[in-house]
Formats: sequence, C-alpha cells, structure tokens
Amino acid sequence: MHPTTIEINSQQFISNLKAIKEAIGPKVKFLLPVKANAYGHGLIGTAKLAESYVDYLAVACLDEGALLRKNNIQKPILVFGAIDEDQIPGLIDNDLEITISSLYKAKLVASFCKQINKRCRVHLKVDTGMNRVGVRPESLEALVEFVLSSNSFELVGLYSHLAASDDLDNSITARQIEIFKACAYMVKQRKADVVCHIANSGGVCYHPDSYFDMVRPGLMSYGYFPAKPIENFPLNQIKPCFSLKSRVAYFKVVPAGSGISYNHRYITKETTRIVTLPIGYGDGYRRGLTNIGEVLLNGKRYTISGTICMDMLMVDIGPSGSAYVGDEAVLIGTQGQEEISIEKMAIMLNTIVYEVLVSFNERIPRIYTAFSPSKQVID
Ligand SMILES: *Cc1c(COP(=O)(O)O)cnc(C)c1O
Repeated sequence: MHPTTIEINSQQFISNLKAIKEAIGPKVKFLLPVKANAYGHGLIGTAKLAESYVDYLAVACLDEGALLRKNNIQKPILVFGAIDEDQIPGLIDNDLEITISSLYKAKLVASFCKQINKRCRVHLKVDTGMNRVGVRPESLEALVEFVLSSNSFELVGLYSHLAASDDLDNSITARQIEIFKACAYMVKQRKADVVCHIANSGGVCYHPDSYFDMVRPGLMSYGYFPAKPIENFPLNQIKPCFSLKSRVAYFKVVPAGSGISYNHRYITKETTRIVTLPIGYGDGYRRGLTNIGEVLLNGKRYTISGTICMDMLMVDIGPSGSAYVGDEAVLIGTQGQEEISIEKMAIMLNTIVYEVLVSFNERIPRIYTAFSPSKQVID
C-alpha cells in the first residue's frame, strides 16, 4: 500500500449527513454533490457511504455519472453541467438526469430521444442571478411548455444556483430566492410534483427560506462551513472527515549550513535531523506550501523545510527531534493534541477550502474507516 493516504472518517461523514437531514426536516429532499471526486473524498467510496442517507447524488459531467453507474450506484443522479450534443446518448444510456438550460438544448435532447424511442428525466435550470448557465426567468415559461408538450421528457425538477449565499450581508441571495419562488410557482401550476431546488451549503446554513423541495449542500456535507460556523444543534455537529497522512520514508542528520531541497530555499542553522515524506505536488500537495506548510510528527508540529518536490518533501525536526522510518506524519487532520486544518492551509495558499480539497489526485488512495475501528474499506 502507498505510504501516503487520505483517510475518510466514515462515522463523521455520516454524522454530517444526519445533521443536515435533521436541519432540513423530513419534507425536504437531500441531494449530495459528489462532483470532482466527491470534493476529493473519493467518488465511489463516498457515494457508497452516502447512498442510504441521501435522496439524490449530483455530478458535474457525464464521465462522473457513468462511473457511479458502473459501480452499481442506483440513486437518481443529476448532472449539473451544461450538456454537449455528443454526450446525450451517454447521459440517457446511464440513466442520468439531465440539466436543460435552453430551448436549443431541449430540442437536441428531444430529437435524440425520438430516434431511440426513449424518455429522459430532466431538470430545468433557470438563471436567477449567477449569470452562468440557465434560461432567463422570462424565457422559462416557453421552455416549460415545450418540455411538457414533448413525450421525450419527464420533467422532474426546476433549479437555480445561488451566487453569494456565503456572504451574510448582501441582498443578492434574497433577490434570487424571490425570483426563484415565482418561477417555482409558475412551474408547479403546470406540474405540481416538480422538485424545486436552489440551496447550496450557504443556503442551507444561512438562508432557511432557500430550502424549497430539495437542498444541494456539498461543502457542508464534507464538514466545512462556507462562512461562520453554525453554533446551534444540529448543524454544530458538522466536522471535517478528511485526513491526509504519510509515513517517514528517510531520515538523516545534516550539519549546520546545509541547503535542503531544490535551490536550497532552506538552510539548516545547526546540526539537525531531516526527515523525508513521500508526498509532493505530484500528489496535489501544493508547492506553494514550501517553507510554510505544516506536518505533525509524534504529536509535534513542524514546518516543511525547503522546496516541495514532485514526490517528496523534507522536514527539519531539530537536533533533538525524534522520528523513525515508518512513523506516521499527519499533513491534514489531528495527531495527539495537535491539528492541521484545511482552512488554515487554504489561507496560506490564498485560496478556498474547495480548491485545496479537490487538488489531491488519484495517486493518493482513499481509505474509509469502517464503523468498527478494526475494519477498513479501500477505494
Ligand atoms: C457544486 C454545486 C453545489 C454545491 O455547492 P456547495 O457550495 O459545495 O454547497 C450545489 N449546486 C450546484 C449547481 C453546484 O454546482
């Protein structure tokens, strides 16, 4: 097994899902976004864990949806992205629910469905203020009429996306919710059971009037708040479930004045002990953490020493630091009393938690801790 792993605390992940279910109540459906390798948590492993706790899964593109089906995931799966004409057969073959964001796209899908004599399940997307994809509210009615009059479609949902739900003091979200409310009313006049949804994590956390029939929290399901943490039950139960661990691969003592790693960006001040960990930017551990990233070793916090390489990085553990080849190193998560949070890492990298999570690639195996601590499932 590769000595560097991402460990997903299954128990904590499921607690997060349960807390969200509790918060939204029994009448609101729960769609879990598992796009981008489930925010780095591993697409298949995460979908399997979540399957019996959520109503829906969503992905960004055809390939992610097809992979879920190939791995026997049976839940309804919505594909968020704007579709490309040549993906239509794949979307229908894999029983994926398609986002229709214009009359033009609706006509393309309809003509393919007619050819193969199949119906497909669709969600219409209306743009209430993100100015990304979606029909304008004033064009929605014509699209709804077209979709309802064609027997190529089963109209399942209507949705939109919030542009600033993590910003607690502006009016964009309230305005988007108002516009969406009118759209939902219009659609439900024509088909009462259409599932209307607009809330992302920020909506779920800070805007209870955004819940409608279903919510789509991604970031929160994985344990992070988009802005300030919620202090009340049940959402205060939400915590990260993602740890990044490695093992000491090499150990050496070097004299004072030794330059460490490429371009000697770190120089030892005294005779000291340098350990090497088998993780680098080739795994998605960002090179921008050179000389600032942190590592926990034997319960102590150290700073990375020198340039992060493609496959390795070095840590100066000081003249009296102790570490042996094979010792566990934590790069995200807790060890003893110490913790390294992705939030802090994101600040160091001048980015957001989302981007740090999805940067870890397939080279790092995802391990799901089972409910009994002795049993582990590997993705
Ligand atoms: C990614 C995504 C979400 C989830 O967003 P979070 O901020 O992670 O909750 C919801 N809806 C759509 C359409 C998305 O693309």
